[in-house]
Amino acid sequence: MVTVITRFAPSPTGRLHLGHAVSAIRSHDFARERGGRFVLRIEDIDGTRSRRAFVDGILEDLAWLGLRWDALVFQSERLAIYEAALEGLKARGLVYPCFCTRAEIAASASAPQGDVGPAYPGICRGLSSADIAARTGACCWRLDMAKAVAEAGALSWHDAGAGWVVADALAQGDVVLGRKDAPASYHLAVTLDDAAQGVTDVVRGVDLFAATHVHRVLQTLLGLAVPRYHHHALVVDAEGRRLAKRDGALSLAEIREAGEDGVALAERSRAGG
Ligand code: GLU
Repeated sequence: MVTVITRFAPSPTGRLHLGHAVSAIRSHDFARERGGRFVLRIEDIDGTRSRRAFVDGILEDLAWLGLRWDALVFQSERLAIYEAALEGLKARGLVYPCFCTRAEIAASASAPQGDVGPAYPGICRGLSSADIAARTGACCWRLDMAKAVAEAGALSWHDAGAGWVVADALAQGDVVLGRKDAPASYHLAVTLDDAAQGVTDVVRGVDLFAATHVHRVLQTLLGLAVPRYHHHALVVDAEGRRLAKRDGALSLAEIREAGEDGVALAERSRAGG
C-alpha cells in the first residue's frame, strides 16, 4: 500500500483566515486518518509579496489549531528545479516568451473568458525569432496550450466529489509557466512539487478546480505521477461570498487574540460547525 501523503500549500502573502484553516484541517486529517504524512509547503515564489513574518504567522496558526506537519518545504529553495523543467519545455517548443503587460491583455477585445479570468488572447504566440530578438523588455513564458494538449492527448483526472473529469485545459488558455520575476509560476511549481513530495491526495478549495485541468496536462508533459483530487467547498460569509481579507474576514491571529481556543475551533470545524 502506498502511504497517503497530503499537503497544505499556503502563499505567505497575508494572514490565514478561517477558509485556510478548514483547508489545512481537511488535508491534515485526510492523511492522519489513513496513517499517512502531511506536508506543509510554503508557496513563496512571489518574492515581492511573500514575507517571512507571514511564514511565521502560518506556522503559529497551524500549531494553534493543533495541526502537526511531517515536512516543511519552501518553494523559494526549489527555484533551480523549476527552472530546469521550464528549460526542458523551452527546448521542446512548448512554451513561448510573452512580453505583454496586464493592461495590453485586458485591452484585447478578443480575450475569451476562462474559468479563472480571461484566457490569454495569444498576442505573442506567433512572434518570430527575429521579433523576439528585437524585444528588450522582460518576458514571461507561456505554455502553448494547443500544442501541449495535442502532445499530451486525451486526459482525465479523479475528483472525490465530481468523479472522473475529462481534462479541458484549452479553456484555460496559454497559462504562464515562468513569471517575469521568477523561473516558475504557480502552475509549474505546484505540479512539480506535488510529484516531488509524493503527494497522493491533493486536498484544496474548489476555487482551484479549473487549475487542475492545467496541472493534469503538465503532469503528462513532464512525466509525473497523477494524484487524486479532493476539491472542497469554500467557507463563505453571511452574504455567501468566499472569505477574503479585503472584505474584512477575521484572520486566525485576530480570532486567537480574541481568546478563542484553536483546538476547539478545529474540532467544531470537523463537526461541521
Ligand atoms: N498556494 C495556493 C494558495 O495559497 C494553493 C495551492 C494549491 O493548493 O494548489 O492559494
